[in-house]
Amino acid sequence: MIPIRKDQFKIKVGNLLNGSLDYIDVELVGHLDDIQVSTARVLLQTEINVMCRIERANHGVIVHGLLRSLWDGDCSRCLEPAKGNINVEFREVFVTEPDLEIEYLLTGDMIDLSDLVKDQLILELPAVPVCNFGCRGLCPVCGLNRNETRCECKQSVESPFSVLNELSDGRR
Ligand SMILES: [Zn+2]
Ligand SMILES: [Zn+2]
Repeated sequence: MIPIRKDQFKIKVGNLLNGSLDYIDVELVGHLDDIQVSTARVLLQTEINVMCRIERANHGVIVHGLLRSLWDGDCSRCLEPAKGNINVEFREVFVTEPDLEIEYLLTGDMIDLSDLVKDQLILELPAVPVCNFGCRGLCPVCGLNRNETRCECKQSVESPFSVLNELSDGRR
């Protein structure tokens, strides 16, 4: 069991707010409770890496940088395990009275990137995970994994485009 440190994504920005520094560069590594979209998730034990620069802005600070992690899940075509990299650039504002739709909270001289990290991961997790983009999936007739076995089923029977044919026939 990995303990989640409460301060793992917290950064003191007092030296920016009082003008003694122009920017702060930070690299953080932390963990969050499982985050899941479809079957794709970033697990508690998965490292989340944040590299960012923090700069002073009106009523707060701007944080911009790069978030990296890994996701794993089930392939939506063949149902075998799937995994991939998360690599996302972000730029967000922290202010004392945030509009929470678009900004994050600056508390005293402290910002906490936890919500930002969570939001970015949810946006980046694939809604339709695949083991690889060439995955051939399961045969819709016999259920065999077509990445491993070639079956003798007639594929045309279950073509999703047959519906379109019927529609255009009806219009004639
Ligand atoms: Zn697959
Ligand atoms: Zn088949």
